[in-house]
Amino acid sequence: MSPVMHNAAFQDMGIDYVYLPFRVKKEEVGRAIEGMRALNMRGLNVTIPHKVAVIPFLDELDPLADKIGAVNTIVNDGGVLKGYNTDATGFLQPLLEEGIEPEGKSVAILGAGGAAKAVSFILAERGARIVILNRRLEMGWAEELAARISQAFSREVTALELNGENLTGVLKKTDILVNATSVGMSPDTGRTPVDTDLLRPNLVVYDIVYNPIKTRLRKEAEAVGATVISGLDMLVWQGALAFEKWTGQKAPVALMKKEAIKRLEKHED
Ligand code: NAP
Repeated sequence: MSPVMHNAAFQDMGIDYVYLPFRVKKEEVGRAIEGMRALNMRGLNVTIPHKVAVIPFLDELDPLADKIGAVNTIVNDGGVLKGYNTDATGFLQPLLEEGIEPEGKSVAILGAGGAAKAVSFILAERGARIVILNRRLEMGWAEELAARISQAFSREVTALELNGENLTGVLKKTDILVNATSVGMSPDTGRTPVDTDLLRPNLVVYDIVYNPIKTRLRKEAEAVGATVISGLDMLVWQGALAFEKWTGQKAPVALMKKEAIKRLEKHED
């Protein structure tokens, strides 16, 4: 998805850059990052599973990326490598575009994986009250994440097991529901993490799954009249914010979104 979005944006703006995907082995991460300097690369995106592993090889970290402990965007400024997390800011932007300011809102985050981590840190930073619900609480992921956020922002964050009873209780007091699990993602498009009868019109439902664009959760939330935000917008904005860091120019967000939709629809066919 990223090469499609970025190369369209570079072409549209007449910027002489090209965005290429590289598969990098775990044991080669350090050498790959070092190669940025030698090859005079302006920037990199980093994806799963290297978002944490790249950190020791960078010269500087943006404070938010530092708190989250994960980097998805690197900028090379004359050999000085700085890491950012535009997954987090890319998640926030579509909420702000909808006029939804997280401060003081109660947010239920489903999942405690990589994406949930970025989402919960940015929401905590923006003053939301957070409950994290994760399937495998016994693995301690959700509890560990909640403890890290509590420590970083001196606020209480609750971790609960993701089950029907907890969801029913939590959603009664929730303003914004975020699905940061992979439930509903292609090819398991018939699944949803939340029963339809728990959805209501005055709920914001933000499903970060973007493949398919219209997940079952999104369709059911739309059907009850909830405000719906799509994972596609997060995907596009994390790219757009990285683009702006590399180029110093405003990203053509609408074009990037159009290209992403085109590619996803091709995939869905
Ligand atoms: P991850 O680190 O593997 O985490 C997956 C999460 O989903 C874990 O919390 C896992 O819980 C939970 N999960 C998986 N299957 C489940 C099930 N059947 N029932 C309940 N929970 C389940 O993955 P990730 O990187 O966080 O990505 C999660 C999703 O977000 C993916 O669909 C990914 O495509 C999407 N995403 C979107 C964007 C965007 O820009 N829109 C960015 C990043 C990720 P356990 O701990 O119990 O396994």
